[in-house]
Amino acid sequence: MAAQETRVVTKFLRERTDDSWTFDAARTHNKAYSALEKAMGMEPAALIDEVTKSGLRGRGGAGFGTGQKWSFLPKDVFPRYLAVNADEGEPATFKDHMLIEKDPHQIVEGSIITSYAIQAHHAFIYLRGEFALGADRLQAAVDDAYANGFLGKNILGSGYDLDLIVHRGAGCYIAGDETGLLSSLEGERAMPRIKPPFPAVQGLYAAPTIVNNVETMSTVPHIVREGGEWYAGMGVNKSTGTRIFSVSGNVERPGNYEIELGVTFRELIDDLAGGVSGGKKLGFFIPGGASSPWLRAEHLDEPLDMDRAAELGTMLGSGAIMVFDETIDPVLVAWRIAKFFAHESCGKCTPCREGSGWLEKVLYRMANGLGRPDDLDLLMGFGNTISPGVTWPPGMTTICQLGPSTMSPTLSLNKYWGEEIRARLAKDADRRTTLQVASA
Ligand code: SF4
Repeated sequence: MAAQETRVVTKFLRERTDDSWTFDAARTHNKAYSALEKAMGMEPAALIDEVTKSGLRGRGGAGFGTGQKWSFLPKDVFPRYLAVNADEGEPATFKDHMLIEKDPHQIVEGSIITSYAIQAHHAFIYLRGEFALGADRLQAAVDDAYANGFLGKNILGSGYDLDLIVHRGAGCYIAGDETGLLSSLEGERAMPRIKPPFPAVQGLYAAPTIVNNVETMSTVPHIVREGGEWYAGMGVNKSTGTRIFSVSGNVERPGNYEIELGVTFRELIDDLAGGVSGGKKLGFFIPGGASSPWLRAEHLDEPLDMDRAAELGTMLGSGAIMVFDETIDPVLVAWRIAKFFAHESCGKCTPCREGSGWLEKVLYRMANGLGRPDDLDLLMGFGNTISPGVTWPPGMTTICQLGPSTMSPTLSLNKYWGEEIRARLAKDADRRTTLQVASA
């Protein structure tokens, strides 16, 4: 039987496409804020336990246990903050964008519950600057929540106060890094910070701060309403629950699909996204956004399981699966991704600032018939200064993950097409020599 979606966080927005973002529709038809009403009758520690029990792992990229992260806050240090990362910027990732525009009340409710669980009285949703419609709808949702007693002073008569601020960024990739986001919220350039200290200990305004992703926040009300055990009953191994994957590239039906973790790549790409378009064969696919190392047809029957992905030398990252058919030149794709990272490097650390630019230049000439015979080895060699060992999971000489991420495409080229590319580079060099001799 063909694989199906398992809709939890996307159920309502798929069912009610003309007004799912409004307060009235969300409250009447999606039990919006009923999980908050339940949460207010619980102790904060019980909420953290419930989310820990669910096994929910962050949906932004790192896949860290959500309840575990909340429990890392130092016990007696106040104030503390929640920062919701709505700066979705990983190329080909468009799931949070959908949640923000189509079901903002789910995010607001999850953010209020999380703030209460961690006992924060100020929370921020850091929104990607380009999401204009999302900004309007999210702000309207926050205003409605204030107007109906779900935000502000003495929420639902509980004595708990919370202010929630929607903050629009100016649009830069590195603001999606949790410490880059905090720098930007403080009014600085969005430059990542050295860890430790981790944000849970010293984050926004040097106070303990939890940074959670939009999809993570959207999942929290369901866990509170239905229970951690219910959520943990879905999924596979330590990858519990459902997750939204943005499938794009050479497929018949690109889009967002919410599936129970454990479904295979083949089921997601073939059954749900309609398979490789135009009847062509699969060339390769990128399983977790541009930062992740690539996979090929021999991996199609692997499950969407965060830990299995790590064993395969990659990650499910931001949940963006880019599919490329057999006609696509992997070197050209590697160059385009390298160009993106070179542009988005914040420049704070030298290996990333300089290395990302060099990667882009060398991959450009390789992709355009101007490569030199030793170019792939050259890339692997200076990649070693950005990511020692040039392996995955990466070693790091840089402050944030963007540095090693710049090497993912090159690692993939070397792993799957190393000999082929070296032969092609030698041929390109020969052809140029012949042309030079002929024109001399
Ligand atoms: Fe900035 Fe790159 Fe260093 Fe990250 S790794 S802090 S993006 S220079």
